[in-house]
Amino acid sequence: MNRPISRKEALGGLIVLPALAAAFAVGATGTAEAKGTKAQFKYQDHPNGKQQCSGCALFVPGKTKTAAGVCKVVAGPISPHGWCTAYAPK
Ligand code: SF4
Repeated sequence: MNRPISRKEALGGLIVLPALAAAFAVGATGTAEAKGTKAQFKYQDHPNGKQQCSGCALFVPGKTKTAAGVCKVVAGPISPHGWCTAYAPK
């Protein structure tokens, strides 16, 4: 029993499929923004040469220049003078 798919049905499918994919992704990781551990990224609380978190595009600074901030990929407090293997220069 094949019948032509209406434009409305086709568009509905296009919207539902990405929503389902996102739901599965969230279910697989627990949250949509799960971060890795410091050990996974070999985080250290001191620079690697001239590279440090304050110069990384993934660093979110704390309240002051020297306060710990957070990282978009590594969980926990992050020193502006730290470094990890995911370092991405600004
Ligand atoms: S990715 Fe690594 S180097 Fe960059 S801010 Fe996060 S912990 Fe620091």
